[in-house]
Amino acid sequence: MDQSWISKDKKPIVIAGPCSAETEEQVIQSCTRLFRTGKVNIFRAGIWKPRTRPNSFEGVGAKGLPWMKKVKDLLGLPVTVEVAKASHVELCLEFGIDILWIGARTTVNPFAVQEIADALKGVDIPIMVKNPINPDLALWMGGVERLQKAGLKEIGAIHRGFSNLGEKVYRNRPQWQIPIDFKRLMPEIPMICDPSHICGRRDILQEVSQKAMDLNFDGLMIESHIDPDNAWSDAKQQITPEVLGKMITDMELREYNPDNIPDEDKLAQLRSQIDHVDDELINILSSRMSIAREIGEYKKDNNMTILQSDRWNAILEKYQEKAASTKLSEGFISKFIKAVHDESIDQQESIIRKK
Ligand code: PEP
Ligand code: MN
Repeated sequence: MDQSWISKDKKPIVIAGPCSAETEEQVIQSCTRLFRTGKVNIFRAGIWKPRTRPNSFEGVGAKGLPWMKKVKDLLGLPVTVEVAKASHVELCLEFGIDILWIGARTTVNPFAVQEIADALKGVDIPIMVKNPINPDLALWMGGVERLQKAGLKEIGAIHRGFSNLGEKVYRNRPQWQIPIDFKRLMPEIPMICDPSHICGRRDILQEVSQKAMDLNFDGLMIESHIDPDNAWSDAKQQITPEVLGKMITDMELREYNPDNIPDEDKLAQLRSQIDHVDDELINILSSRMSIAREIGEYKKDNNMTILQSDRWNAILEKYQEKAASTKLSEGFISKFIKAVHDESIDQQESIIRKK
């Protein structure tokens, strides 16, 4: 499969630009400053924005497309835009957009993905598919398969994390095992990481981008704005072009050739996967404990005891039953749940003793 748009010799391939195109000047300036860093290969901007709540800025619409075309003509690099339906595809093709991407809120809907695939029949354009917002590997792969069936040859995947109730560290929890499984099952599809939507904040962008590089992702899609705090969407996660340039410069890149892995490298690769899953476990435990502390506040305000025996017995029983279907031993599950529960009690006690 020809994947010339995402040259394997240039790693990481960096896709950068604002979350949303806002004005012509903002788009041109953002991309020009990104270009000057010498680190960016493809420019992005959202033109139609799928927003969680109505009454937020929903994108400038088709009038932003000529701005992207101008960026391409001015700087000589390809541009990419999110499409969510057939009419978006048609407009992008009309305005010479080089690469399309399907957003997370669209990948969840097979009708919408099929509509895009149908609109692209017979068209030769690269397209990237973001993971769906829910952690469903089959739905993500299904999106790619619909495009393949429509005859598209240059398809990429973007890992942007998964929505998770109660998550405190990330905006969208990375759940690295899912893109790793994707790469195992569809090794020919380049995998890009979008740390901006995973993090939702600037301070951990570098570490998440580094993790993606350590896991041998092919590239990064990072949001960048000339005035991040005043961006019309996703202000908290955007960085200036110069900060982005420095981030890429500071990245540690290691060689990895999947066709020639000595056994020790294979082991190192597996160990690095384990380390990433362990990191995630710690983050998940930390989110759990912050919920436990909130429960502690509630119990304190309502004068309740910390240990609610019925609730605890029900939890223990539920997970012992679950052991059977998870390849985890019952003994391990109960030790683990008890340890987590003990720590929750300690955390709640510290809340109740405080004040
Ligand atoms: C975006 O890239 O601006 C965007 C809307 O992302 P996602 O589809 O990952 O939420
Ligand atoms: Mn965004």
